[in-house]
Amino acid sequence: MPTHNSNDSIFNQLELLGHKKVVFCSDPDTGLKAIIAIHDTTLGPALGGTRMWTYKTEQDALNDVLRLSKSMTYKAAISGLNLGGGNAVIIGDSRKDKTEALMRKFGRFIKNLNGEFITAEDVGTNPKDMEYIRMETQYVTGVPETIGGSGDPSPVSALGVFMGIKASVKELYGSDSLTGKSVIVQGIGRVGENLVKLLRDENAKVYVSDINEDRTGQVSKKYGAEAVSNNSIFDIDADIYSPCALGATVNTYTINKLKCAIIAGSANNQLENENIHGQMLLEKGILFAPDYVINAGGIINCYSELMGFSKKRTMQLTENIYEATRNVLKLSKAEGISTIQAANKIAEKRIIAINKVKSSY
Ligand code: NAD
Repeated sequence: MPTHNSNDSIFNQLELLGHKKVVFCSDPDTGLKAIIAIHDTTLGPALGGTRMWTYKTEQDALNDVLRLSKSMTYKAAISGLNLGGGNAVIIGDSRKDKTEALMRKFGRFIKNLNGEFITAEDVGTNPKDMEYIRMETQYVTGVPETIGGSGDPSPVSALGVFMGIKASVKELYGSDSLTGKSVIVQGIGRVGENLVKLLRDENAKVYVSDINEDRTGQVSKKYGAEAVSNNSIFDIDADIYSPCALGATVNTYTINKLKCAIIAGSANNQLENENIHGQMLLEKGILFAPDYVINAGGIINCYSELMGFSKKRTMQLTENIYEATRNVLKLSKAEGISTIQAANKIAEKRIIAINKVKSSY
């Protein structure tokens, strides 16, 4: 995946990253300022979350949505789903600025895309917000179970990350048991907390950290994990670092500090720069389980909702993340390339193959 330079013109950025369409949504009445990015629809309609965040600049919001939407294309492809990649961001504080009218207006913008983009929750949005969007358009998943949806996808996402961690542990240690292994979970929100539970159930030693210190206290107490301050996590000598907050936490500074053998977490776009930092990790001998491979449980859950699959089938598809991760690690080893390059190769191969299938009647 080429990385882009945010100083380029918007059209240059879209050309470099291969985006099909970007929609800027503005509604002064509700205060809505949102961007919907559709990256690729070769495999199916673009599906991706809607993130609500207090971006410092509009350029930051654009960068985020471009990166997120592109990784959704790769995530759907490598997971064997018939979906394209897209994503949306709403600029604002989800605790103060979110209203029913704002979410419904946003739903109207999605409706106007006529099914080319289907959304779900992400950081700063929840099933209730999806219910508001559902009042305006059918192109939304992750609506509450009480109204026929699949609800919050986070527990399924956590299961997928857990499978990715086990596959990575198997690669390095020969067994996938987590008993006695130590894991730092950074960001104990919806995915992070579910992951902590799964790890503790398998007797892993878990360190937890969050910018919200109340949450760190509550979660550490509930699951018998050790609370650590956010600025000391890279000093801890643990086997696994699991980034479950926001992206770009794996960068030159943190790679030089990290003492772990494995990086495997739910956050999207963990590598600040795919090429540079993927290579640095390869050279340092740190196993990186590519984020979009192991955090696909959420999109699998949404896909199941669209296809009418049972919960059992959703769980089976999510457990396949173990094999998907093993395949990426095998290719990386066989070709001496970074794990992110290996994952990209597998995903791109499927998109090209299916494109050919679709090119004739
Ligand atoms: P969330 O908003 O519920 O939790 C995020 C947590 O991270 C919060 O507790 C927040 O306080 C904390 N946080 C934010 N910045 C931090 C920092 N710098 N250091 C430490 N903690 C910080 O979000 P979530 O749904 O749990 O998602 C977590 C990550 O996983 C996101 O990057 C999201 O895009 C990704 N993801 C989520 C899903 C899903 O199903 N929810 C699926 C795939 C990927």
